[in-house]
Amino acid sequence: MGQRTYGQEYGFQTRAVHTGNDVDGESGAIKRPITMANSYELPYDPTDMNWSSAAGNLYTRNGGSNQKYLQEKLASLEGGEDCIVLSSGVAALSGLFFALLESGDHVIFSSITYIAVYRLLNELFNKKFHVETTIVDVSDLEAIKAAVRPNTKLIHIETPGNPTLAISDIQEIAKIAHENGALLSVDNTFASPYNQRPIELGADFTIESLTKYINGHGDAMGGAIIGKKEFLDSIRSQSQINLGGTISPFNAWLIMRGAVTLPLRMRQHNENAQKVAEWLEKQPCVSFVSYPGLKSHKGHEIAKKQMLAGFGGVLSFGLKADHDTHNRFVSKLKVVTSAVSLGHDESLIVFIGENDERQYLYPEEFHHGFFRFSVGIEDAEDIIHDLEQALQSVNLL
Ligand SMILES: *Cc1c(COP(=O)(O)O)cnc(C)c1O
Repeated sequence: MGQRTYGQEYGFQTRAVHTGNDVDGESGAIKRPITMANSYELPYDPTDMNWSSAAGNLYTRNGGSNQKYLQEKLASLEGGEDCIVLSSGVAALSGLFFALLESGDHVIFSSITYIAVYRLLNELFNKKFHVETTIVDVSDLEAIKAAVRPNTKLIHIETPGNPTLAISDIQEIAKIAHENGALLSVDNTFASPYNQRPIELGADFTIESLTKYINGHGDAMGGAIIGKKEFLDSIRSQSQINLGGTISPFNAWLIMRGAVTLPLRMRQHNENAQKVAEWLEKQPCVSFVSYPGLKSHKGHEIAKKQMLAGFGGVLSFGLKADHDTHNRFVSKLKVVTSAVSLGHDESLIVFIGENDERQYLYPEEFHHGFFRFSVGIEDAEDIIHDLEQALQSVNLL
């Protein structure tokens, strides 16, 4: 018991189901239990122990059973050597930056990124810790090359990017990073490892907000850093053990449970989002649709090359309507819920207004207010019908 391992010779779905799970040695249960204890029994003479070590079970902030099972599954699904799971996607991002960057280092990060990345790098690390930062439109490889400095330590990108769905070329950017002695981290939250595996494309680190597709049910938060063991050992001791953004064993267990159906859910998200994007694109009241699965998307060819199974469930679109009509449209939706987050089973929509402070970084069509729409796994016909009836009730159809 407790001996089964599932190497990369097994398919993605088999590993999503089995990796990290095993028969419980004590009870014979075929699912490993949740271990809520925060401490583990010490050896006879504990005085030589390193209290900041992640090796062996000691204290749940240093690492616990449920964290380890989930780390095993995620490392396998992302094709990486090792994984650290933390309390949120932002804990993973800040943990990576905190462990890797020193004052005097330079970071290039994509103009389209999660808001906390913008705050951490553009407002905290540069001002407080004297890390140099440059924001670059990373869909432009020449612009990245031009931004590289001798002290560039890290390039951080997000593809597809939140919230405009901008696409950048992971393989080409990895080459630029490595030719210049820098590392590449990719926030893979929008794609999930079912659709895209940055490490296989040359990235050094993959970041996931587990809160989104990997858990998939909207009921837990978590984050992960996946990469080579040599880097992850030091990130684990600095950012997990000493910063303390530990995930609770219960949340790790919930996410482990959610991840079992990741491939099935992603197939449905991919299919539904493609149908919804194509439908929206045909409506005269829609000003634009941004979805990497559409031929009209600027990054479609690159997306086809690096997104292996589909283009994900998130899209953004605009309406030819005034500010309040956007809110009235949302208030008429019955299947789709107005809420932040994404990658849940249910469809979620957010109205991002004209005054978004990062608008100067977005393409022109996004300047008039737009929706970020996370297409759920409901029946596609019901989602489309819901959009249709809401557009009709605000006189846009
Ligand atoms: C939500 C999100 C995050 C942050 O994750 P949390 O779990 O909310 O902390 C990071 N990156 C992207 C792309 C996201 O969508």
